[in-house]
Amino acid sequence: MAIATHDFSALMEITHRPDLVFVRGEGSWLWDDRGRRYLDFIQGWAVNALGHCPPEVVKALTEQAATLINASPAFHNAAGVRLARLLVSHCALDRVFFANSGAEANEGAIKLARKWGRLHRGGAYRMITFDGGFHGRTIATMSASGKPGWDRLYAPQVDGFVKVPLNDLGAVARAIDAQTVAVMLEPIQGEAGVFPAERAFVQGLRALTRERGLLLILDEIQTGIGRTGRLFGYQHHDIEPDVMTLAKGLGGGVPLAALLAREEVCCFEPGDQGGTFNGNPLMAAVGCAVVEAVTAPGFLDRVVARGAQLRAGLEILSARFGLGAVRGEGLLLALALGDRVSGPDVVTAAREAGLLVNAPRPDTLRFMPALTVSREEIDQMLAMLGEVLAAAI
Ligand code: PLP
Repeated sequence: MAIATHDFSALMEITHRPDLVFVRGEGSWLWDDRGRRYLDFIQGWAVNALGHCPPEVVKALTEQAATLINASPAFHNAAGVRLARLLVSHCALDRVFFANSGAEANEGAIKLARKWGRLHRGGAYRMITFDGGFHGRTIATMSASGKPGWDRLYAPQVDGFVKVPLNDLGAVARAIDAQTVAVMLEPIQGEAGVFPAERAFVQGLRALTRERGLLLILDEIQTGIGRTGRLFGYQHHDIEPDVMTLAKGLGGGVPLAALLAREEVCCFEPGDQGGTFNGNPLMAAVGCAVVEAVTAPGFLDRVVARGAQLRAGLEILSARFGLGAVRGEGLLLALALGDRVSGPDVVTAAREAGLLVNAPRPDTLRFMPALTVSREEIDQMLAMLGEVLAAAI
């Protein structure tokens, strides 16, 4: 039976998707089924760290698929053991639990903190999280998120999340009570529109959580694995968290996430946590290939250089069209549009011109290209965006 590729009626409508069907990707480029090519600065929502179909990921997937796909989470497998060692060798955290999505990794972090609170903090379970924060779409991680409207969408929320404004250390201090077990934040709030936690705030949080005996949990799902020009976003601030979650870039496009914690915090006992697909060798082999690529000599220097180029180009566009500030770090950048033009309108016009960018809020464009994006591709994107803005303003 011939299936009409553009008949989307069998899919649940979970977002407004354009009438496009993508069939092929390579590096910074995507092709649709009509043969049209797009310069992709969304990259699967900041997941394709090495771009579309990079040779390292294709090799890891195909070789692992031909060797061992899933040995069961009840057994160790070589790729999973290797990836765990690789990750802990790059930070001060000691152990890893693998998951399949960012939300699931954060769900694990919440469980770990609650269990740790039960064992070491007299049953404390509340977490301080931040207005605008985004931690995933399970019920608990939605409850942890500070996205406007989410408190009502699937009410009632999970109890135990207290929201305070980002970069307000006094508000965090005032929100701490005997039931508080942890503070959880993104080093840069990505989905909210790319709002960085300030260095002094992150350092103050580290000191405050230490002083009060609380866990500092960093959600590095969007900022981790080189996105900001360092392997982990917190490394810009010379601190170490107690717990960290990774996803997106870690899998280079495949579903892979990780929860990492300091030895003293690792209080899961057999049976407390798990999942059928968790830590499967197929995904773990890809994770190894991605982490090896991102930590290879010179890789992060190139991310920093491309990030600086993109920032400078966006600042020139902002000055030319009277737009707002450029926010973010490395290759996670946003351009504030002000009220001269709407983000969704620019996104649509850009797509029609063959450029994929994202508007996380109506007054903001977000750029999350492959970490391997070339100088020429950034120049090309800036030129295309300039033409779109010139036509729109
Ligand atoms: N945390 C952060 C900071 C994110 O940006 C996201 C996704 O955008 C998530 C968690 C959820 O990850 P996932 O969509 O893989 O569940």
